[in-house]
Amino acid sequence: MTEDEPPKKQRPATIAAQGLGFVDETTRAISPPIHMSSTFERDPDNQYRSGRIYARSDNPSFDQPEAVLAALEKGAGAMLFSSGTAAATACFQALKPGDHVVAPKVMYWSLRNWLLTFGRDWGLEVDIVDLTDLAALKKAMKPGKTKLVWVETPGNPLWDITDIAAAAEIAHGAGARLAVDSTVATPVLTQPLALGADIVMHSATKYLNGHSDLVMGALATRADDDHWARLKMIRSQIGGIPGSFESWLLLRGMRTLFPRVKAACANAQAIAEHFAKHPRIEKVLYPGLTDFPGRAIAARQMKGGFGGMLSIRVKGGEAAAIATASRVKVWKRATSLGGTESLVEHRASVEGAGSPCPPDLLRLSAGIEDVSDLIADLEHALKV
Ligand code: PLP
Repeated sequence: MTEDEPPKKQRPATIAAQGLGFVDETTRAISPPIHMSSTFERDPDNQYRSGRIYARSDNPSFDQPEAVLAALEKGAGAMLFSSGTAAATACFQALKPGDHVVAPKVMYWSLRNWLLTFGRDWGLEVDIVDLTDLAALKKAMKPGKTKLVWVETPGNPLWDITDIAAAAEIAHGAGARLAVDSTVATPVLTQPLALGADIVMHSATKYLNGHSDLVMGALATRADDDHWARLKMIRSQIGGIPGSFESWLLLRGMRTLFPRVKAACANAQAIAEHFAKHPRIEKVLYPGLTDFPGRAIAARQMKGGFGGMLSIRVKGGEAAAIATASRVKVWKRATSLGGTESLVEHRASVEGAGSPCPPDLLRLSAGIEDVSDLIADLEHALKV
């Protein structure tokens, strides 16, 4: 490329910042209109040449955010859902009773809960496996019967790192697909499809939107194949779609995805390093710390940072952890993650039975505030 030529292929941060460079053909608007119509007119000769019939399957307000996400994930397509949970469960609903699935020990607790209750009741054979142990994954595979391996990396709330490329190879070797919940990694840091995953899932409620003002989910696919068509059919038939306004908000949120994620990563890294040897902290869990077990894999598959999520284990057990959370002023005590504001949560109070979350753990979602305020607030909260 010479200096007077425009770039042939725009870089991901440019794609996100400009929402793929959209300009409305009629009005020249740079921010797209919101299409509120639930239905679309049929042609006089009974055809639907517009390609749109009814907004449960075809909403023009989904087009641009889906195209942006597909471009960021380097996939063949993307689909918005009413929540991250609707997007994730669609992947399991696409399977048949009797199919075997493998999911990680450390993962979003509510999805694990759904798999072990609804998923099993519905006939899925579910194995929960430590996916940081590739030999255990290999052992759990049932060639021909295992249809899906579900990965979450970094995994909530201990931030276990799974080697996506290696897990994909094992899954594919047994005839299964690999899906990755990449909510915490975001497309800024990791592109699971390029590492061999078949499907990427996001709780768009989190970093993709980034402002704690909507609930939404998304899937992206490596191939526009029969499996993707089945997922589309499930979304349309079950009806787990977001609203038009929320889809527009997501597009707006994604414009600042790159600077937000980079700022959150820098804050999380600084907080983790500051508190790593703190006298009132048992352990800081963060993939960006040199002694974190999955650090080498994370450095390979997360480019430009180790994410905005970390956890601290407070000396003194559950009561000390809850008391620490009660004393913060700048951090907000709330569930969720990936917003501009920093959140702290005593995670064992939320997660159900069978959770690997220790009772002394506080989950921290680093926001994009001035990091000295976040550190000073936590220092104060840790003092008894
Ligand atoms: N995956 C991860 C990693 C999450 O943290 C969450 C929500 O907390 C979900 C999935 C579910 O997403 P939603 O709350 O949008 O249904």
